[in-house]
Amino acid sequence: MADVGVLIVGAGGGGSACAESLREHGYSGPVVLAGRDVDPPYERPFCSKDYLRARMSREETYLGVPDSVDLRIRTSVMKLDPEAKSAKLSSGDELTFEHAVLATGANVKRVRVGGSDLDGIHYLRTLGNSDAIRADAADAERVVLIGGSYIACEVAASLTSEGKHCTLVMLEDGPLSLHFGATAGGFFAGVLRDHGIDWVPNDALGRFEGEGRVRTVVTEGGRELPADLVVVGIGVSPDVMLARSAGLELADAGGIVCSQALETSAPGVYAAGDACDYDSVVHGRRLRVEHWEHARAQGAHIGAQIAGEQTPFAEIPYFWSDLADWATLESVGPPERWDREVVRGSLDDGEFTIYYLDGGRMAGAITVGRSDDLERARELMVAGEPVDESAI
Ligand SMILES: Cc1cc2nc3c(=O)[nH]c(=O)nc-3n(C[C@H](O)[C@H](O)[C@H](O)COP(=O)(O)OP(=O)(O)OC[C@H]3O[C@@H](n4cnc5c(N)ncnc54)[C@H](O)[C@@H]3O)c2cc1C
Repeated sequence: MADVGVLIVGAGGGGSACAESLREHGYSGPVVLAGRDVDPPYERPFCSKDYLRARMSREETYLGVPDSVDLRIRTSVMKLDPEAKSAKLSSGDELTFEHAVLATGANVKRVRVGGSDLDGIHYLRTLGNSDAIRADAADAERVVLIGGSYIACEVAASLTSEGKHCTLVMLEDGPLSLHFGATAGGFFAGVLRDHGIDWVPNDALGRFEGEGRVRTVVTEGGRELPADLVVVGIGVSPDVMLARSAGLELADAGGIVCSQALETSAPGVYAAGDACDYDSVVHGRRLRVEHWEHARAQGAHIGAQIAGEQTPFAEIPYFWSDLADWATLESVGPPERWDREVVRGSLDDGEFTIYYLDGGRMAGAITVGRSDDLERARELMVAGEPVDESAI
């Protein structure tokens, strides 16, 4: 008999949701939840929002794990053998399992330009990173953010609301325009501009300059931006180190290849969250998303399946982002490709939904202040039929 019923690797969003779901669905076998973070599972999105703004304590970010789950923090799973169903932990323990769940998340992409090793240059993935940015920001006036997507925009909003002057450097035309297009991007650009945030669009990071500590960000286009602090938010890569060494099939895009039921190429081994590249029944294609609620939903789904439910994973990815207290965006989709945008509500009033249609079919939606519209978008995505625009 195996030492544990379920070994969950990674105590983040997906892993902790899986542990909860196992118990909620009546699974009574031993469960080990192993995570290399120093904290117990916490709500990662707060790292760029209220936690960064010191509006909540560390403990308030914690998610809680059922008492009957054997939570091992500061513990990495070093090796996993899917055939022998055994694993080696950094604590030296070796254990056998019936099922394993890889919820290993993602690692931030790093910039490799001159001056990258100067002090004052930060990345953001953990509470510890958020602590370091907050501490360093105490004496900083001018902050430069590298990136134009949600991490850079959220951090810029949070630090601006704390009195810093923020400038973003981005490859795209404007903030948040890469994933949501020019119409939505234009709205968010207005929100950021109204609060004093600047940006350098269509330009790339060239190098950092400074003596020991960063003082200037130089773009490839030749702009020189004074900086007391830099935060880089240029995306993440799925953490597939363990999966690769375990011989699991990996997708070209880098995630762990999973079936519609989120099972990897090894029977009894599942994957959830940022590292999971799954066959989506809703989208009819392989999909990997980096959204909090989605990682939680996948973890919960795997827990239910191990406890006995047999259904494919059919959630539509949901994303949200807060720009300080100024605006909250919510989206379903993800809207990756579209040829038409249908706007409802009013961008001028800051309450609107943009439906993204691709070949007449619903590809996703983004909203500010009209959350109910997302349900309509979900229904139409599932239906997969040509959309009657007068009905949305
Ligand atoms: C600052 C920030 C803000 C965000 N804001 C939003 C937001 O507003 N909305 C949204 O939808 N999404 C947001 N996200 C994205 C969201 O947090 C992620 O999509 C989500 O955390 C993914 O969950 P996960 O379980 O896949 O990975 P994670 O939550 O990253 O957890 C993976 C865990 O696995 C651990 N691990 C990896 N390998 C091993 C190993 N071998 N052994 C043991 N442990 C291991 C890691 O240390 C990590 O703790 C944000 C992300 C960040 C960083």
